[in-house]
Amino acid sequence: MSPYHDGNAPHHRSAARDVRLLPKAHLHLHFTGSMRSATLLELADKHGVHLPEALSGGEPPRLRATDERGWFRFQRLYDMARSCLRTPDDLRRLVREAAQEDARDGSGWLEIQVDPTSYAPRLGGLIPTMEIILDAVDEASRETGVGIRVLVAANRMKHPLEARTLARLAVRYADRGVIGFGLSNDERRGFARDFDRAFAIARAGGLIAAPHGGELAGPSSVRDCLDDLRADRVGHGVRAAEDPALLARLAERAVTCEVCPASNVALGVYDKAEDVPLRTLFEAGVPVALGADDPLLFGSRLADQYELARSAHGFTDAELAELARQSVRASRAPREVRERMLGGIDAWLGDGEADPAPV
Ligand SMILES: [Zn+2]
Repeated sequence: MSPYHDGNAPHHRSAARDVRLLPKAHLHLHFTGSMRSATLLELADKHGVHLPEALSGGEPPRLRATDERGWFRFQRLYDMARSCLRTPDDLRRLVREAAQEDARDGSGWLEIQVDPTSYAPRLGGLIPTMEIILDAVDEASRETGVGIRVLVAANRMKHPLEARTLARLAVRYADRGVIGFGLSNDERRGFARDFDRAFAIARAGGLIAAPHGGELAGPSSVRDCLDDLRADRVGHGVRAAEDPALLARLAERAVTCEVCPASNVALGVYDKAEDVPLRTLFEAGVPVALGADDPLLFGSRLADQYELARSAHGFTDAELAELARQSVRASRAPREVRERMLGGIDAWLGDGEADPAPV
């Protein structure tokens, strides 16, 4: 049973509250994957890249990544989109537009993840690439009012030594806006523990550990994230729902799962939105931060995830507010930003008598 009662008292508006106005933090968004479709078309045109119809048709591509071929196809489309980001201007535009979209969706805080490796060859190396991205982040943040920080994410398909290089790079920029270290790509390949040294470097440098796990593989992959990488947050983590003891452990340790419902359905992890075990995690007391993952490929952004929680899982406005609070609490936003956002969440709910939210 949910510990949160419905705050929808009759004297409030009878129409549902607009989830875009609910202040929230966005903790799971990939760099290229955040791109607007229209921007991809313009950049492809500018750089003479011929896009496959799956990316140029104006509709999100049909994907099914639960088999290796489907995942490979998803990665190929992603790589193709990434190849359209070639100049510092392209990167600045991407970050600015990601921030604009987040602002429109009520996000006051964005933690975007990037693997700088793939952009580095055209931009003079890893360090210039990080400088460009972090400058772009500062600029976009000033323009939109959305606080933005960066997670550097290593690629699980590459050698663990490369991950260590990225972890050192991430730590080097810890005082310039990098707050975490991630690990993405096909979790069915290799072992999380192959990357334990990279995560140790990141943690020692004060970064949070936020690897992907429990998306394409089951509960054991979430356990590996906890045991081998000492994850503070888990990207997705939804497959933990298959193991009650693991849910209890995530709840007990307050490890936030960055749940991306539209992504899960688009990639075939679950057949339909109703099957994503969002409520199972929520009611087990596992902190959840809803995220959009790759809007470019999945066709929906942050507010849509909250809308899905409402429409597919029957989340009340009070429960949506609690999801938003959990996203804020799991973020690396400074105290004053968190307090402001938590206050905004109470105001959205229209509950003047609300207990002051713990920070
Ligand atoms: Zn992801």
